[in-house]
Amino acid sequence: MFRVGLTGGIASGKTTVSRLFAALGVPVIDSDEIARDVVAPGTPGLAAIVARFGEGVLQADGALDRRRLRGIVFADPGARADLEAITHPAIRAEMERRSAQAGGPYQVLAIPLLVEGGAARSRVDRVLVVDCPPDVQVRRVMARDRCTEAQAYAVLAAQAGREARLAAADDVIANDGDLAGLRDQVEALHRRYLAAARQGPPDVAQ
Ligand code: ATP
Repeated sequence: MFRVGLTGGIASGKTTVSRLFAALGVPVIDSDEIARDVVAPGTPGLAAIVARFGEGVLQADGALDRRRLRGIVFADPGARADLEAITHPAIRAEMERRSAQAGGPYQVLAIPLLVEGGAARSRVDRVLVVDCPPDVQVRRVMARDRCTEAQAYAVLAAQAGREARLAAADDVIANDGDLAGLRDQVEALHRRYLAAARQGPPDVAQ
């Protein structure tokens, strides 16, 4: 299966681009959604988190209290490593399971931290970056999350830089214009990906 890893900074347009690919009939597998699913009530993931961090990380309804857990791991790299040792393998396994089931001409794996994560890179055939100038990202974050400009810039500063992301990209979508322009770029890439998926990996095609 030919797999495209879709990534980009906050509010760069990943979800919007995912929807455009989905509308073209391409299965989209979303790591954010999976990250929530693998720690839902009743999962081995949540049980492992409670075993490590205690019942205090649960809300009254038994769901994970994300704020509280974030507070614990924020200042403690060891705790963060423990949490990631629980969640990362579960997310990876669930992604592979859904990918194996999803079919399609090719697949889009939406992974916001693809560039930061490192290992995820080896599981996709191409890295597609949705790129957006920081001032446009900030404007969209402010409009969507109703936060101040300073808060929006602070979120941006905590992520991999635009240059690092672009350096890791095989393909780039420039999302600094309107939605029609975005759709055109997705459709052009879709045609290329269909052709690449038909061809198979280069060593097989030769
Ligand atoms: P996050 O990192 O927060 O999950 P994201 O990268 O998935 O965000 P989107 O949710 O797709 O980004 O887009 C962020 C916001 O910007 C949304 O409100 C979306 O409607 C808007 N947006 C995205 N692209 C465009 C565009 N080309 N023109 C106008 N608005 C856009």
